[in-house]
Amino acid sequence: MKTARCRFALAASLAVCLCAAEAFMQSAAAQGADKSGVERLYILNCGEGVAGDISRWSPGVNVGKSMDFVDNCYLIKHSQGWFLWDTGLADAIAAMPNGQAPADPRMTHWRRPKTLAAQLDELRVKPADLKFMAVSHTHPDHAGNVEMFPQTMLLVQKAEYEWPSPLGVGRFKAEHPVTKLDGDHDVFGDGSIVIISTPGHTPGHQSLLVKLPKTGAVLLSGDAVHFKDNWENRRVPENNDGKDSSSVSMQRMADVMVKEKAQLWINHDKAQRDGLKMSPAFYE
Ligand SMILES: [Zn+2]
Repeated sequence: MKTARCRFALAASLAVCLCAAEAFMQSAAAQGADKSGVERLYILNCGEGVAGDISRWSPGVNVGKSMDFVDNCYLIKHSQGWFLWDTGLADAIAAMPNGQAPADPRMTHWRRPKTLAAQLDELRVKPADLKFMAVSHTHPDHAGNVEMFPQTMLLVQKAEYEWPSPLGVGRFKAEHPVTKLDGDHDVFGDGSIVIISTPGHTPGHQSLLVKLPKTGAVLLSGDAVHFKDNWENRRVPENNDGKDSSSVSMQRMADVMVKEKAQLWINHDKAQRDGLKMSPAFYE
């Protein structure tokens, strides 16, 4: 009898022990889920240029005024792998002594002071190291180097992928690995890097929410807006695919920013980028 009671007591204390261990593991898992899987974000110089007439992006406002533009790519190190957001102007432009002049002088005359390849090299990241990549949209200043990463899974909205190109060919190589999205997408499944669907500038335009462990949440605009003044005044560029959808997307972004307490980093805004750290410096 005594032995049996003893065994029972032992079993009971073991059960308490196991329960405590389980509770500890659960709370550790919960803490892990709170912790961002994003480790670092690098801003890469993917172009610099001069916009001939910014009223193209703000109909009727600032007519004839030119403005310096920049073009960024963002390389993110997540605990599960590397992710590249936008690929910038084609690296070939770096070899053009006067850059690439636009057909329409109101548009942007682009130069590429540094190639994307050289900047990845500097960080010792090889194209094959990237687990995922995504472009905000298929304009050439964002999708110029997609084929530098022929094995990397490309995350793109189905509406953008299937958007007919003026050249009558696909916007991406048919053999490039792709996941066609229909709306928002949590890239690594932990909420730390989320593609936010923001159609309007193009049919399948997308923006990116990144939750950095120290910096906090940052929303990368893509071309949902081109510079701060147009964001504050919610102006829709004349060549956007959809005027109403552009306005709806800007409001969606504002809502995401409130909910996530996110800063907005505007891809082409030189004044803002001048105040940010460029690679090889990084944000945590
Ligand atoms: Zn664009």
